[in-house]
Amino acid sequence: MIIDQTFPWDSWRNLPASQQPQYPDETHVRTVAQQLRSRPPLVFAGEVDDLRALVGEAARGNAFILMGGDCAETFAHSTADRIRLKIQTILQMAVVLTYGASVPVVKVGRIAGQYAKPRSSDVETRGNVTLPSYRGDAVNERDFTAQARVANPARLLDLYQHSAASLNLIRAFTQGGYADLRRVHEWNKGFMSNPTYKRYERLAREINQAVGFMEAAGVDSEALRVVDFYASHEALLLEYEAAMTRVDSRGGEHYDTSGHFLWIGERTRDPKGAHVDLLSSVRNPVGVKISHTAKPDDLFALMDHLNPQAEPGRLTFITRMGAGNIRECLPPLLEAVKQDGRPVTWVCDPMHGNTITSSTGYKTRSFETIMKEVEGFFTAHREAGTVPGGLHVELTGDDVTEVLGGAAHLDDEGLRARYETAVDPRLNHQQSLEMAFRVADLLREATTA
Ligand code: PEP
Ligand code: MN
Repeated sequence: MIIDQTFPWDSWRNLPASQQPQYPDETHVRTVAQQLRSRPPLVFAGEVDDLRALVGEAARGNAFILMGGDCAETFAHSTADRIRLKIQTILQMAVVLTYGASVPVVKVGRIAGQYAKPRSSDVETRGNVTLPSYRGDAVNERDFTAQARVANPARLLDLYQHSAASLNLIRAFTQGGYADLRRVHEWNKGFMSNPTYKRYERLAREINQAVGFMEAAGVDSEALRVVDFYASHEALLLEYEAAMTRVDSRGGEHYDTSGHFLWIGERTRDPKGAHVDLLSSVRNPVGVKISHTAKPDDLFALMDHLNPQAEPGRLTFITRMGAGNIRECLPPLLEAVKQDGRPVTWVCDPMHGNTITSSTGYKTRSFETIMKEVEGFFTAHREAGTVPGGLHVELTGDDVTEVLGGAAHLDDEGLRARYETAVDPRLNHQQSLEMAFRVADLLREATTA
């Protein structure tokens, strides 16, 4: 017999919860949740506290947050090679930003837990067949069959397993020598005829010289050898996030140990809803996606619930307004929050307000439109006298063809070559680097202004 315990963070159960899977068997969900509660935490409270402090530094302009990874990770693609290339891409971008703007970069992957998706429709129709939507590998399968689309709670155990294996590899890569700044050259890949890679090569040479100089001068090189890399995902599946929430032995506080940084999506950010309630009871740094429809009062309500102590680094607003809206919609929010005075870290997601369908039928985004939103973000902050604290992007380390444009001038036809994403289009490796060079210029202007 299953005895249902309740936990101090369980008040979300009495509130409206949107975007949750409809499981056919509730008993099975409870059995799985109980199993998850007995598994070891995936991340540790001390690491979470470190990241919260860093996110607070970003709000003051003393650091810049780089968050990147897949829209939706899949179990099949959580392989060593793909994870390595994704980490490598983020490390390369971070090097470009750090070197270009002389600001420490806080590296956060959309990784090791980003397996569940909110959907704009509960169902998908193809021809005359209508089935439940694919909600990410943590919920159901992508294949368009009735069987595949049934929500299966056992997938929450697979989610835990894949997240654990990914984190293990990430820790090995970032602490075990692979991320050593003296290997900055080796991370480069691709053809040197490509202007972005050539530019990176030049930068790597300069960094090598600088590192050589520091070593010769006797500077302690431990900081060059290891990298702090954090994991983030959308805290969408409430049963999973609640089951991964634990009491910290140090001080009795609650931490969601499924990842370091957790965010609430645009579709689940109701201040009176279950997602905000659950995350209000944990100590992790929390992000909330903010679209062009948000009003100052919506932000204040989120601040009241999620950061009543006005603690730096606790709350990040990830704005995703669309390149055409940001110059009009972001300034009043920046002004209102500035007047209010409570600390908020502002991060730009230039992806989700800019999704279009190509003439060839692909869900895509254009590189220049994405950059236009990033530029609008920096301009709005400069004009408001507030701090652009970071960037949140969908990317992969692979040479996919999902986003239009970039130095390779990918066009509507070109999308056919290697379109692999499970949900939203991602910048490929080269487009990611190209973005880093452009953002480094914007960041340098912002920090020297
Ligand atoms: C996402 O980050 O993949 C996502 C669904 O974002 P949003 O909630 O901003 O639409
Ligand atoms: Mn997405």
